[in-house]
Amino acid sequence: MIKIIDNIATTIHENKEYLTELDAKIGDSDHGINMDKGFKMVQEKLHAVKDKDCGTILKTVAMTLVSTVGGASGPLYGTAFLKAASVVSDKKEINKDDIVKMFEEAIMGIKMRGKANKGDKTMLDALIPAYEELKKSIENNETIIEAFDKGQKAAYEGVEYTKKIAAKKGRASYLGERSIGHQDPGATSSYLMLKAIYDTLK
Ligand code: ADP
Ligand code: MG
Ligand code: MG
Repeated sequence: MIKIIDNIATTIHENKEYLTELDAKIGDSDHGINMDKGFKMVQEKLHAVKDKDCGTILKTVAMTLVSTVGGASGPLYGTAFLKAASVVSDKKEINKDDIVKMFEEAIMGIKMRGKANKGDKTMLDALIPAYEELKKSIENNETIIEAFDKGQKAAYEGVEYTKKIAAKKGRASYLGERSIGHQDPGATSSYLMLKAIYDTLK
């Protein structure tokens, strides 16, 4: 878990400019800056929780994101990590069912908090297809690595799909139809996180 979070933070850092450039097209040019600020702080706190259970680790991530990432994405990702944490509180080992449940809870949390759904051109357009593929793969008794491989590929397709639709939530929704043709920054950061999970496990 520590390695995964650390890798997510490094991936976000490496893509800071990229995410900010995407946000410059349809938002306020800060998504990479926001995310990097939060995950840098997360990275600094990882050492202190390295012997703790998964719930505590994820809760620490959540609280740090909520308090350091500005904008819409901070509270949304914070809620996602907090909901995932609640599935594995006190657990030092996570099984396949936990993984499915963690994603399910995280997505429900984002939906509840942001009142968005699939097709609104948000992070959910990467996360929901990823969750669906991951769940299907685990139900078919495939390995966790295969499940995350399929999940990250579905997230990538989801990011591509955001180029074709108009934003209905968040800042990009102010542009309406003019947001078509641009890739959603939050969907992109979600894809990058899933890819970081897969790259850590494989
Ligand atoms: P802000 O728009 O406040 O500057 P960020 O730039 O950090 O925040 O994050 C923007 C991203 O947040 C968007 O690309 C989108 O994916 C996501 N987002 C915005 N509003 C919502 C929402 N209501 N539900 C889900 N995701 C959202
Ligand atoms: Mg922004
Ligand atoms: Mg902002």
